[in-house]
Amino acid sequence: MSNFAELVQSTREAFYSGKTRPLEFRIKQLQALKRMLEENRHEFHAALNADLRRSKFENYILEIDYTINEIIHLLRHLKEWAAPERPTKTFVNALDEIVIYKEPYGVTLIMGAWNYPLQLSIAPMIGAIAGGNCVILKPSEVSVATAKLINELIPKYLDNECYKVFCGGTNETTELLKQRFDYIFFTGSTTVGRIVREASNKFLTPVTLELGGKSPVYIDNTADLTVTVKRVLWGKFINVGQTCIAPDYILCTPEVQNAFVKEAKKIMKEWYGENPQESQDLCRIVSDKHYQRLTAFLSNGEVAIGGQVDPADKYISPTILINVRPSEPVMKEEIFGPILPIVSVSNAYEAIKFINEREKPLALYIFSTTLEDVNLILQNTSSGNVVVNDTILHMTVDTLPFGGVGLSGIGAYHGKLSFDTFVHPKGCLIKNFNIIGETLASARYPPYSEKKLKV
Ligand code: NAD
Repeated sequence: MSNFAELVQSTREAFYSGKTRPLEFRIKQLQALKRMLEENRHEFHAALNADLRRSKFENYILEIDYTINEIIHLLRHLKEWAAPERPTKTFVNALDEIVIYKEPYGVTLIMGAWNYPLQLSIAPMIGAIAGGNCVILKPSEVSVATAKLINELIPKYLDNECYKVFCGGTNETTELLKQRFDYIFFTGSTTVGRIVREASNKFLTPVTLELGGKSPVYIDNTADLTVTVKRVLWGKFINVGQTCIAPDYILCTPEVQNAFVKEAKKIMKEWYGENPQESQDLCRIVSDKHYQRLTAFLSNGEVAIGGQVDPADKYISPTILINVRPSEPVMKEEIFGPILPIVSVSNAYEAIKFINEREKPLALYIFSTTLEDVNLILQNTSSGNVVVNDTILHMTVDTLPFGGVGLSGIGAYHGKLSFDTFVHPKGCLIKNFNIIGETLASARYPPYSEKKLKV
């Protein structure tokens, strides 16, 4: 047996031992995971900083504390969500029991992405543990320091037989994906999402695919521009745009574009100073490969703000490109960096057409105070999520499903959905040998007759 097969087999044996079934066990593991994050806040910040040169503020609110809060929310509701459901009975089942059990799938594979390497590994794992599954967690190999720390700490806090970390790159992951899992939860690009989906097809393994894409922002002339600029720029420049739900591009009229740029110049100076490269609040591009890919976009429009680069520092200043043509490469692929193109449209109808001619986005942002326009866009476009008059914050609402549609993903999670994702709702009809029930149902037995059809 290969190491990969052994890894999955030993985890499957742990699952069949029944260890993960009792709620008390799951609660203890979730509490231990929470303790791991709380006791190692500083270490996680240092690792995230080493990977992305990200500020303490962003590391705490977007990764460490965010994930702790997700655990708290699940712990608060686990007993209620895991309890068997008893749906309403009709007359036909009056003497029976009807129950929906929340059955764990078994051995789950969770694959994380590098852009939020802690949150995107641990948040799905919380749902998998809560559902009573065993987990093989594969953090992204690109965010080396965070993957190393997760690999060191998980075995110190969690049950070693049920929860394992697997570190590896493309070759190792390709081998791992040949194994049979009971559920695969993948976060990453649409390209690799397809590879995961193909691998899962061999065993008809259910998957959640949390993918990416281009998330548009539509701004009309009724929006409060001072607030709009801040909310769009914050969403774009946290993690220097390396966020799956970052505003990818703006659609607006040339007048709104001019006003947006004027206000953005003021705000960006206030936030990042005269030389943004010196600001401690801006991350760096994760790798040379992504740096090269992004700098090629800088000539795809007129640089209205930014455009400075420093290869040695993998630095690209927060940049706004104006009058960008839809045919430019920057409008063809997910940007995933600090470059914000603005494309001109005349009105909401043109914006809808523009959005619908492209792949379904992970998030769609609408800035307007005209209810009819907001509803028009909401009802005539499809996207994973929508936020009206803000960006990003939908991910913090526990009660909203977070996920994509079309090429931006399959499935959703967060809050209760994180639990629901990792359990199979097993419908059970439980009958007894009561003589009345048997007499009433006996019409189903042969010999069949026309008379019985009328009963
Ligand atoms: P990626 O697809 O390159 O990598 C994701 C995972 O797949 C990693 O664990 C990696 O090791 C593995 N992988 C990479 N190549 C592989 C291959 N050929 N075979 C098997 N496994 C392979 O994605 P990334 O660069 O880490 O992340 C960026 C992408 O993820 C962006 O498109 C972004 O929008 C998306 N994303 C989506 C979400 C979401 O919640 N929807 C969150 C973060 C990132």
